[in-house]
Amino acid sequence: MGLISQRLEAMEESATIAMAQKARELKSQGVDVISLSLGEPDFKTPAHIQKAAKEAIDSGNYFAYPPVPGYADLREAIAKKFETENGIPTKMANVVVSTGAKQSLANIFMSLLDPGDEVIVLSPYWVSYVDLIKVAEGIPVLVKGIIENDFKATAQQVVAAITPKTKALIYSSPCNPTGSVFTYDELKAIAEVLKSTKITVIADEIYEHINFTGKHVSMGSFPEMKDKVITVNGVAKGFAMTGWRIGYISAPIEIAKACSKIQGQFTSGANSIAQRATLAALTSNLESTKEMAAEYLKRRALVHSLLVGVPGFKVNMPTGAFYFFPEVTSYYGKSYQAYSINNASDLCMYLLNEAHVSLVTGEAFGSPECIRLSYAASEKDLKEAISRIKTALAKLN
Ligand code: PMP
Ligand code: GLU
Repeated sequence: MGLISQRLEAMEESATIAMAQKARELKSQGVDVISLSLGEPDFKTPAHIQKAAKEAIDSGNYFAYPPVPGYADLREAIAKKFETENGIPTKMANVVVSTGAKQSLANIFMSLLDPGDEVIVLSPYWVSYVDLIKVAEGIPVLVKGIIENDFKATAQQVVAAITPKTKALIYSSPCNPTGSVFTYDELKAIAEVLKSTKITVIADEIYEHINFTGKHVSMGSFPEMKDKVITVNGVAKGFAMTGWRIGYISAPIEIAKACSKIQGQFTSGANSIAQRATLAALTSNLESTKEMAAEYLKRRALVHSLLVGVPGFKVNMPTGAFYFFPEVTSYYGKSYQAYSINNASDLCMYLLNEAHVSLVTGEAFGSPECIRLSYAASEKDLKEAISRIKTALAKLN
């Protein structure tokens, strides 16, 4: 019998966080690493949100345990946001506030899954879905979109993956790691397949505000999907608030109650001051959010123009989030000095050590043909990083 549980032994470490940690270590040794691995806005949390947090501290009213599912006024504001911005019918009782969208997702899988239940994961998928499903003793079933379809899986593929054991389906749109955005028609087609089943959809919309198509579509707004969709969102990306750790959901009441029950045992609820900051974020205008999105759009154009100039990379044009996900298989089988590149992980380690640029292997997202580059970084760093990548790749033969 090992010291650590089999459940934990079977779980992978988060690859995004592991790569960011490696980059930090190299930096602390004085190596000039450009970090494009962690999906994290490089902006500061807007001043009015910081101010709300300071006021909450100064008031002295928010030092006690908050209610487990979140402060009532925040949950009301979230319900209003879901209804007015996303068209998702939501009352306060449907809302649970958690310690990051990551915990929202963990709560959901723990609430929904019995051992052996299957979850269809539209792939490429965000790194943590699969391990969170496994820890909840579920079985991830990957349904993979190809680069020619902007990495988006289709309704036909979903039909083929459904079995009597399918309990849920999860996707992100805008998508991490591909930056793709599902259109209204694509989501409608998937809803058509699911509407008469008992499958619950988990729609991860944390990149809602970084969407260059001009239109964000929530499956939770489709009348035929009433009571079948859990919408996950949070303030990390749209409001540059990764460290504040606040995520939230709109879920059918039974599921919201279950998530709150788990949270009551695991964390007692999300940080009080961060909840007050979130209330300010969600109730003020979106000016700073829009400014940040405009900046990402500029960088997307820059990075696209640079990446298409990298020999051997196959690149599409993402329509949201802040990632590129180039296909890099043309480098597999090549080598330089002690390095042999046999997969995306080898290539990422090579680029970290030789170009001092940190990226994340596509293996972590269900796509071993690709690597992920976050362009939530300055234009100067992006230009320098891609130039270094090109130089390092040119040495491989
Ligand atoms: N979903 C997706 C698609 C993400 O990229 C992330 C990463 N932040 C999360 C959920 C988790 O967000 P949070 O930082 O709020 O836990
Ligand atoms: N979501 C971000 C990413 O994909 C942050 C890291 C994480 O939460 O795992 O890089």
